[in-house]
Amino acid sequence: MVARPRGPRTVILPSAEQASALVKRMRDGAESNSNYRTKSLKIHGPVCAKCGREFDAASIGQLTVHHKDGNHHNNPPDGSNWENLCSHCHDDEHSRGVLGEYLSKPE
Ligand SMILES: [Zn+2]
Ligand SMILES: [Zn+2]
Repeated sequence: MVARPRGPRTVILPSAEQASALVKRMRDGAESNSNYRTKSLKIHGPVCAKCGREFDAASIGQLTVHHKDGNHHNNPPDGSNWENLCSHCHDDEHSRGVLGEYLSKPE
């Protein structure tokens, strides 16, 4: 196979770093995925909304964003559909589902 000239960029081969950065970007896929997490952390703070555990730079990876209505495509910029939950509380939230929410109502 002969490489076809595609303008000036064909001369520049991607470095290993560039290639891995590209792969990472592709793996992140919908960039919005990491985007809403960052926004939610900014809005709600690095704290689990359920157990109140606080996270720092080292542990922040364990803090996840829960979608209150369960719709991952519903990402209002004001953060009203997001809840920051630690992985434990997040699991809990999903295993309880609607029934758990119903049972835990204070009234
Ligand atoms: Zn928690
Ligand atoms: Zn969730």
